[in-house]
Amino acid sequence: MKPFSYTRADSSGAAVGELSNNTHAKFICGGTNLLDLMKSGVEQPDRLIDINRLPLAEIEELPSGGVRIGAMARNSHTANHPLIRQRYPMLSQAFLSGATEQLRNMATVGGNLMQKTRCYYFYDTAMPCNKREPGTGCGALEGYNRTHAILGASEHCIATHPSDMCVALAALDAVVRVTGANGDRQIPITEFYRLPGDTPHIDTNLGKDELITGVDLPRSPFAARSYYLKIRDRASYAFALVSVAAALDIENNTIKAVRLALGGVAHKPWRATQAEEILVGSSPNEEVFTQAAEVALQGAQPRQYNAFKVELAKRAIVRALATVGEMS
Ligand code: SF4
Repeated sequence: MKPFSYTRADSSGAAVGELSNNTHAKFICGGTNLLDLMKSGVEQPDRLIDINRLPLAEIEELPSGGVRIGAMARNSHTANHPLIRQRYPMLSQAFLSGATEQLRNMATVGGNLMQKTRCYYFYDTAMPCNKREPGTGCGALEGYNRTHAILGASEHCIATHPSDMCVALAALDAVVRVTGANGDRQIPITEFYRLPGDTPHIDTNLGKDELITGVDLPRSPFAARSYYLKIRDRASYAFALVSVAAALDIENNTIKAVRLALGGVAHKPWRATQAEEILVGSSPNEEVFTQAAEVALQGAQPRQYNAFKVELAKRAIVRALATVGEMS
C-alpha cells in the first residue's frame, strides 16, 4: 500500500478545508470499501481525512414529516431505527440485505453513497479499466460480464452500482445534502449518480471539495407499503444480480401512485419511471405488473454472459409489486 498521511477533522468546515488543500486526499469514515481499494492499489490517496467524529450521525424527524439521516449514521443503526422501520420499510430491508452485520456496524450512509462498483476488472490492476484508469479500455466488455449492466451502459463501461440502500433511496425520491467550499446544496438522488458515457471514472455529480452531510427522505404517505427484493447468488454477503424497490399507494383497488427502482442492472440506481406511468390508474394485478416489467426492461442491452438478468429483472419486478399489492 502506498504511504499516506492522516488527519482527523473536528468539523465539516475543517474536513472540507483539508480536502480543498489536498488534491489527492480522501475522506475516510467506516473504511469498509476504501481500505480494500487502497490495499489492492486501486485507490492511492496521499492523505486520509478521518471524519468519524463529525456530529453527523443523527436520525431525526423533519418538520415537513420527512426524515433526515446524518451521513455518519451507521448502516445497522439506520436499518433498525424506528422511524426508518415504520415509515420506510424498504429502506430498512435494503440495508439489512447488504454486506454482513460486522460491515453494517462500521459502514455509514455517506460511505454507502460513495462506494465503488464491484466489477472484478476494476479491482484487478493488471486488467484494463476505463473507470480506474481512463483510456485503457474495459476488461468486462469482452470478458466475464455476468454481473454487469443491462441498462444505461456505454462502450466505455458496463459496471453496475453496488449499493442496496441507494436503490431504495431512488424509489423514495431522497435528497443528498452536501457542503463544500462554496456552501451547502442539495442534490436529488436521481441526479447524484451519472451514467458511464465516455467518462466512467466520474461516478457522481459531487464536487471535488464537497462532503456529504446527510440524506433527506421526503414524507411519503405510502412508503410504509413498500418492499425491497434482492436476488443474489447466495443468501448473504453478496451483491445484487437484480434488486427491486417498490412502493404502491392503492385506493379502491386502484393504484394511485407507485415508486419502482432497480438495482444490479445499471451504473446507477435505476428508476423505472415509464413502468410507473403504466401502473398508475390500473388495478393491481399480475397482468399489469407484467406489462410494467416489460416496459422497464424495454431498452435492455445484455452482454455475452448476463442476458439472464433481463428475464430475472422482469420476474423480480412482478414479484415485488405483487408482494406490496398484498400488504394490507
Ligand atoms: Fe472498468 Fe467499467 Fe469496464 Fe468494469 S465495466 S472494467 S469498471 S470500465
